[in-house]
Amino acid sequence: MSSSRKSIPSWWPEVSPSRQRHLPALMQQQGDILLHHRRMVNFSSNDYLGLRHHAEVVSAAVSSLQQDGLGSGASRYVTGDHPAFHRLEQELASWKGTEACLLAGSGMLANIGLMQAMAGRHTHVYADKLNHASLVDGVRLSGAVSHRYAHRDLQHLERLLNKHTSKQRIIVSDGVFSMDGDEADVAGLLSLAEQYDAWLVIDDAHGIGCIGPQGRGLVAQAGVQGHVRLIELGTFGKALGGYGACILATSSFIQALIQRLRTVIYSTAMPPSMAAAMSVSLRLLQDSALRQQLHDNIEYFLMLNSDIPLLPSNTPIQPLLIGGDVAALHAAEQLKGEGFFVAAIRPPTVPAGSARLRITISAIHSREDIESLSTALHRL
Ligand SMILES: *Cc1c(COP(=O)(O)O)cnc(C)c1O
Repeated sequence: MSSSRKSIPSWWPEVSPSRQRHLPALMQQQGDILLHHRRMVNFSSNDYLGLRHHAEVVSAAVSSLQQDGLGSGASRYVTGDHPAFHRLEQELASWKGTEACLLAGSGMLANIGLMQAMAGRHTHVYADKLNHASLVDGVRLSGAVSHRYAHRDLQHLERLLNKHTSKQRIIVSDGVFSMDGDEADVAGLLSLAEQYDAWLVIDDAHGIGCIGPQGRGLVAQAGVQGHVRLIELGTFGKALGGYGACILATSSFIQALIQRLRTVIYSTAMPPSMAAAMSVSLRLLQDSALRQQLHDNIEYFLMLNSDIPLLPSNTPIQPLLIGGDVAALHAAEQLKGEGFFVAAIRPPTVPAGSARLRITISAIHSREDIESLSTALHRL
């Protein structure tokens, strides 16, 4: 231990054993996890609709790979652009009911670039305390004055908005919160944004594809799609089963953003095969039977587990609060022993004392999977 500490910067704080992170090198087969030759049902994937392994999605990627090759070769602004990107952007904008859309390499890159592009030293950003790390880091990088309001507490947000006067204000929130599974009050946030002349950024990485009419997410559920003050972020790594992200807003906003989104300007474009596959995912997720299966599974899970302390959530994210870091790790190990992969989420990803099992439900889980997981949860 002491010799290994010599080879890292002396000012890095030590990570306590119960908070250490691991790269588990697990293999997967059609959504199941293989770890040390044991098969486990995956209850921690964000592949909520099972599109990652869908034959049509995979074959769209394969055809494009054969035609377009693997990498895109350059930034979109140089020679890395491809018609598949423009097609996907149009499809996403038309599905979401916004004027325009711009792709980004990942949700992390989209948020970091978007906040950096939108905010500067004179901007005040009002952020939910439980926002995703990508938004937190984006605000930091922008140099904006950051105000964090208590989770989903619009009264607290309004008090903070009243405290400072600024001509440059942005309210930023996850849509469906990634570690809690609960939902932002998008309509409430938008009405405060109007009242206080602020922009509103909603990152609905976990809502898009799952929630709302045609799976169009929380913003569509709130009925405020296409509002001029609203900038929405979606990712492809979750319900769409791929990798990448998109920013949805008015045409004039997106045109201006193209001039200043550094994480896209100075980064290699995503592989064209990914965009080709995401067009197919987008078509498939509009199939209501697939989303119905997801919601039936969520309901079934909730029914079987109404007597255990799950955090309140109607989304695919169903966290079971454990509290201590070590206890959460033990619970996850016990579930592994019973054939279920459920991630223990610990601080600093979640607040201290709120370590949890982050259970996620997918349309591809069978009734038996859900029943046996529920039995195992009751044994914990
Ligand atoms: C997963 C996630 C991201 C990051 O997206 P990636 O494409 O995985 O980088 C951003 N925001 C939220 C709310 C997320 O859950």
